[in-house]
Amino acid sequence: MANPSPLENALEQFDLVAKKIDLDASIYNRLRKPEKCYIVYVPVRRDNGVVEVFEGFRVHHSTSRGPAKGGIRYHPDVSLEEVTALSMWMTWKCAVVNIPFGGAKGGVVCNPKSMSRCEIQGLTRRYTSELINVFGPHTDIPAPDVNTNPQIMAWIMDTYSIAVGYAEPGVVTGKPIDIGGSLGRNEATSRGCIFTIYNLLKRLNRNVEDQTVVVQGYGNVGYNAAQIIHDDGAKVIAVSDSRGGVYNPNGLDPRELLNYKQEHGSFKGFPGADEVTNEELLELDCNILIPAALENVITKDNADRIKADIIAEGANGPTTTEADEILFERGIYHIPDILANAGGVTVSYYEWVQGLERDFWCEDEVNRKLKNIMDRAFDCVWDISQREKVHMRMAAYILAVSRVARAKLWRGLYP
Ligand code: NAD
Repeated sequence: MANPSPLENALEQFDLVAKKIDLDASIYNRLRKPEKCYIVYVPVRRDNGVVEVFEGFRVHHSTSRGPAKGGIRYHPDVSLEEVTALSMWMTWKCAVVNIPFGGAKGGVVCNPKSMSRCEIQGLTRRYTSELINVFGPHTDIPAPDVNTNPQIMAWIMDTYSIAVGYAEPGVVTGKPIDIGGSLGRNEATSRGCIFTIYNLLKRLNRNVEDQTVVVQGYGNVGYNAAQIIHDDGAKVIAVSDSRGGVYNPNGLDPRELLNYKQEHGSFKGFPGADEVTNEELLELDCNILIPAALENVITKDNADRIKADIIAEGANGPTTTEADEILFERGIYHIPDILANAGGVTVSYYEWVQGLERDFWCEDEVNRKLKNIMDRAFDCVWDISQREKVHMRMAAYILAVSRVARAKLWRGLYP
């Protein structure tokens, strides 16, 4: 049987927790569907003078706990289904770390690798302007995701600000520091992920210096995670990007890898390392595996062969529910995406607060607050998993869905 799509996966995860906590049927019915799905067709004049039209999406899954919050993805495989799944995961993620946001996601079907800077700017500005009445600091606040970055967030902020007539930093997070971005935001997803790993290592009485680490995906999340854990003494033995990976059991230097990738476009030919495919990389002998690329990479087909005994999901949705069960039965500690990568949206929340108040904090303060939130969320999830004898994804879902359900019950149904 084929592996489930991200949306099938997200709904299956939700169904499992709904059954486990005996979720009120009305709340269940409401949360199984998104609140709103926007589809926009974005015209862009390519450098050759011809106008091409790109399909874009923005989905709000739930705004019961606060404004819709979630990244924007530029990728050829983006679909309304995928964006809907990602928006659901954002609802749960914001609830796990208990920040006052709902869940959203956006995406445009495009291949930014084949587009010039000017074309990407045109795409971004027109996508934003098609959604100008949807985005806003109190309604819907985008952020970076796959193939989007601080420059793209700056264009969104500028387009929105021009429409309203004043500079509005609160409309988007992950911005450059110069226009109201937060110190620490760039590394926040990875730093948060590493905090959750350290919480787990503490409970297992293990030292970071004794761990070997494999990272799939070498963008914002993958690179920073490799860098931080390497600086703290762990040995990063393999990394990959969309074009494949490299492996050296004696350890690799994350900065050298980044420099090499920037110079050569991939890791191919990196000195002193063997080449591995993305499939082989996931099955390497190591202590900690950090999937930090795309969805559905750990499935029933390879879950039996994963050798890491800790998996920390930097990416959203890298594991199917069938694989969850296999990993749990095998005793693998598995920190789920809605906890492991929640550091990004947590510091996005701090960025939003700083932007609304026009009061900016030092990096130490941001990192200290991030650590507090991640530690607290990890404790809650760990305690539920121990008490209920469930895997950490189920525990995180119990926490998140219960919080969202309580918010919905207090607010009631309009009209
Ligand atoms: P990015 O665009 O900066 O990097 C993505 C990386 O994945 C690139 O190195 C790319 O080459 C690699 N990749 C793409 N397809 C691949 C494949 N098939 N096999 C292996 N590698 C592949 O994106 P990012 O922001 O680092 O996001 C990565 C993941 O983390 C996504 O699932 C995203 O939703 C999730 N995430 C990101 C943030 C954030 O703050 N950026 C926050 C939470 C979750």
